[in-house]
Amino acid sequence: MTVKQNFAQIHQEIQEACERVGRDITNVNVIAVTKYVSDERAQEALDAGIHHIGENRAEEGLKKWHNLNGKGTWHFIGSLQTRKVKEIIDKFDYIHSLDRLSLASEIQKRASKKTKCFVQVNVSGETSKHGLDPEELFSFVKELDKYPLIEVVGLMTMAPFEDPEATRPFFKKLKELQQNVQALNLPYAPCKELSMGMSNDFQIAIEEGATFIRLGTSLVGE
Ligand SMILES: *Cc1c(COP(=O)(O)O)cnc(C)c1O
Repeated sequence: MTVKQNFAQIHQEIQEACERVGRDITNVNVIAVTKYVSDERAQEALDAGIHHIGENRAEEGLKKWHNLNGKGTWHFIGSLQTRKVKEIIDKFDYIHSLDRLSLASEIQKRASKKTKCFVQVNVSGETSKHGLDPEELFSFVKELDKYPLIEVVGLMTMAPFEDPEATRPFFKKLKELQQNVQALNLPYAPCKELSMGMSNDFQIAIEEGATFIRLGTSLVGE
């Protein structure tokens, strides 16, 4: 299947999920996660009109960025080592994995302009997952006022890989946390966005308010 064919099917499913809960499809952004696939396949995603590209590793992501001439909007979705920040900071438009102050400090040091960040939260409590404990989130976000080049655009989570319906409570929880951070009205943390939902559970994530879904396998392949 071409990316375009996959996207036609997925677009239909996104539309249906939006209709079930009365959401406007224009508020759901699709990120093509190209970490498993070739540059050509990533280019196919751009050609199919998907301009958000997601990569989870610095080396491979930078290579793709160069081979695709930096076209599109680039999302760093994996856990980010502090020492890699300087390499990716002017190439990636969004960082989805802000989860510690040492990373915030390095972004502040290396960025030449405001950087759109999602704070990653571990809502499932699985020890294998990265991200902040929900209890730490408020104090973490408040500390970020010391790093003026960081803009907290939203929250991100990775749900446990299980029956999609079983992920719903985790998405609900992330939405609740997002609304609570938004309600703090911090100028540097508009926190309107929710990065949640992958190939197996994006419909549920959309029903629960996702504004960025991250699709690898189902969209561009393995
Ligand atoms: C790989 C990855 C995805 C995409 O996963 P699929 O199940 O292939 O859609 C989404 N988010 C993150 C953080 C990933 O690492």
